[in-house]
Amino acid sequence: MQPDVSASHIPHIQQALQFAIEQQQINLVYQGQNAFPSQKLVGFEALCRITAGPWGEISPEQFIPVAEQTGLIAPLERLVFSQLARDLPLLIGRYPSIRVGVNLSIRHMAEPDFLSFIDRWLKELPKPLIEHLDFEITETYFQRISQTVIDGLHALRARGIRIVMDDFGSGQSSLARLHKLPFDVLKLDRQFIQQIDHPMVYAIVKAVVALTREFGIELIAEGVETAEQCKALEALNCQFVQGFFFSRPQALTHWLSLQNVPTL
Ligand code: C2E
Ligand code: MG
Ligand code: MG
Repeated sequence: MQPDVSASHIPHIQQALQFAIEQQQINLVYQGQNAFPSQKLVGFEALCRITAGPWGEISPEQFIPVAEQTGLIAPLERLVFSQLARDLPLLIGRYPSIRVGVNLSIRHMAEPDFLSFIDRWLKELPKPLIEHLDFEITETYFQRISQTVIDGLHALRARGIRIVMDDFGSGQSSLARLHKLPFDVLKLDRQFIQQIDHPMVYAIVKAVVALTREFGIELIAEGVETAEQCKALEALNCQFVQGFFFSRPQALTHWLSLQNVPTL
């Protein structure tokens, strides 16, 4: 991810991250993913927040790139995984058919003990929960992925975890390599949805829908904010959506307290 911060802010963000990690003060919020056009809930994406300290509110677009640059991403994501392990039984207990996605940084995945960490983490989860997991990896990272990580992803898929290529179309997407990469779901970057009223962008989204259908890959359109964008996606037969139009990222307690949410 490209830093959304000026260089002078990096030391503050690093301090805030160090504080959050030491105090184990991270939160997870969950944003719904919906089938389309039924709008039935099919999944959640877990998104990390750090508690606002003396430095004020810091968004993931600011702290994730700094965590990646400073080597703090592994301890941060390990806290994310600990929290997720506590939340998963509650979420799946409440919504038994849904999937839950978590973002993974390649900087963390490239650490020598990453696969053994994930293996230990999975061993501690009740087995039926494993098949509800989606691991989201940004498209740009796939371009730099090593063979060891590719082998690791195949092993995770064999255990029932889906690999999601996040922010598809935003990086240096190499279409020529797409068929060689191990993934099950494409998440179309929100820039496409936000410019879908442009005929050329509409044509690109149409082509991506056709590509994923042809190959039996699931497609999630990200960043859906308006009824007009919904209409365009419906006309294109897009199957899954995520965005503020349907739900904002919310605390676990919010999702657990909702009544009568239709699920697929
Ligand atoms: P992402 O994985 O692409 O997550 C989706 C981001 O889009 C979230 O931002 C979400 O709040 C935002 N979003 C969802 N719907 C809409 C919409 O309709 N309009 C707009 N404008 N935005 C929408 P958030 O939570 O700020 O996270 C930003 C990025 O930070 C994430 O992008 C992900 O790359 C990264 N991130 C967040 N949590 C983690 C984590 O635990 N680990 C790692 N490695 N990265 C994380
Ligand atoms: Mg994501
Ligand atoms: Mg994304």
